[in-house]
Amino acid sequence: MSAFIEAASPHTMNTYGRLPIALSHGQGCRVWDVNGKQYLDALAGIAVNTLGHNHPEFAPALQDQIGKIIHSCNYFHVPNAEVLAAKLVELSGMTNVFFCNSGLEANEAAIKLARKFGHDKGIKNPKIVVYEKAFHGRSIATLSATANVKLQQGFGPMLEGFVRVPLNDIEALKKATVNDPDVVAVFFETIQGEGGVNPMRADYLRDVRALCDQQDWLLMIDEVQCGIGRTGKWFAHQWAGIVPDVMPLAKGLGSGVPIGAVVAGPKAANIFQPGNHGTTFGGNPLAMRAGVETIRIMEKDGLLDNAARLGTHFHDQLTAALGGLQGIKEIRGQGLMIGIEFDRPCGVLLKQAADAGLIINVTADTVVRLLPPLIMTTAEADEVLGILLPLIKAFLAEQA
Ligand SMILES: *Cc1c(COP(=O)(O)O)cnc(C)c1O
Repeated sequence: MSAFIEAASPHTMNTYGRLPIALSHGQGCRVWDVNGKQYLDALAGIAVNTLGHNHPEFAPALQDQIGKIIHSCNYFHVPNAEVLAAKLVELSGMTNVFFCNSGLEANEAAIKLARKFGHDKGIKNPKIVVYEKAFHGRSIATLSATANVKLQQGFGPMLEGFVRVPLNDIEALKKATVNDPDVVAVFFETIQGEGGVNPMRADYLRDVRALCDQQDWLLMIDEVQCGIGRTGKWFAHQWAGIVPDVMPLAKGLGSGVPIGAVVAGPKAANIFQPGNHGTTFGGNPLAMRAGVETIRIMEKDGLLDNAARLGTHFHDQLTAALGGLQGIKEIRGQGLMIGIEFDRPCGVLLKQAADAGLIINVTADTVVRLLPPLIMTTAEADEVLGILLPLIKAFLAEQA
């Protein structure tokens, strides 16, 4: 641990269990710390750095934008906001977009949309169905929608108006909502991220879509982590052939520049009227340029196909090396959103991997999570596996 790192945070609040590492710069899927040590990046800043680091087209585009205008405020039109919104509409099959700055803000806007949808129908105390193990953010509203009581501890009272159900159980959803005329929306992640890389099944997604149509509820799908090409489709729910009514986005949309978006279909596009919602930074020229360039480069370089192909490669290699081993519960996920679940806490792997020059993540205590940049090559994926697999095998051996 270098002296610089220890001295670096006496004045920032103690909110994170950080590794004793400060990253200084990056190139592609590699990053270097302030002491010059190199790491392979299989986390991408938690599914944020879609295009890796210092991308040869993305970085100059941002520099160009900074030299023109960074922020103008929402008293004025931002031309690239229309370009990015049109693109998101085209890719999602939905109709209108509201821009904000983060995942929780996008989810907060979705919750407000659902509540106003209810009020517009005369429902005074609208309820939203949310899920076990869900993570939607750290504001009071999104924390209330989040399942993890440890995160909620000390911040009560949580907001009312949420009904919680288990994943992938349509009968449980029906049972929890039957005789409840106050339900207005169903809200979930297609693949839960922080909750441990837990996918919703395609048939379940289609059943929920049908139920929402039948009941006139909004289907709201949090694609903050699993969206923007990570699973090999623009949005993970597209694997099930459905279209939601409301879709919060953030993380990967700006390749590192803070950005959030709520995409709405016809049922939700006109709920907000002037004065109903807003933000100072949201949709600013720098973030909008970042979003436009991210999607342009993803399309040009075929990064969805790369994510799908490399995801299969990871899955096959991980299954061949670890499948059936004592201590491995499941290898799951889609595309470049990969979870390896152990039968015991595996947090020590985080530091061991970092020491070995690899950045990964552990979530829900027992799940190693890989979220590499979508530009990763097969050779780099094999390098990730070459570091990670021996660490996992040693971890399993020593704990057996
Ligand atoms: C990260 C995340 C959020 C919160 O996003 P922030 O930008 O940290 O507020 C919400 N939902 C999901 C699914 C996430 O992964």
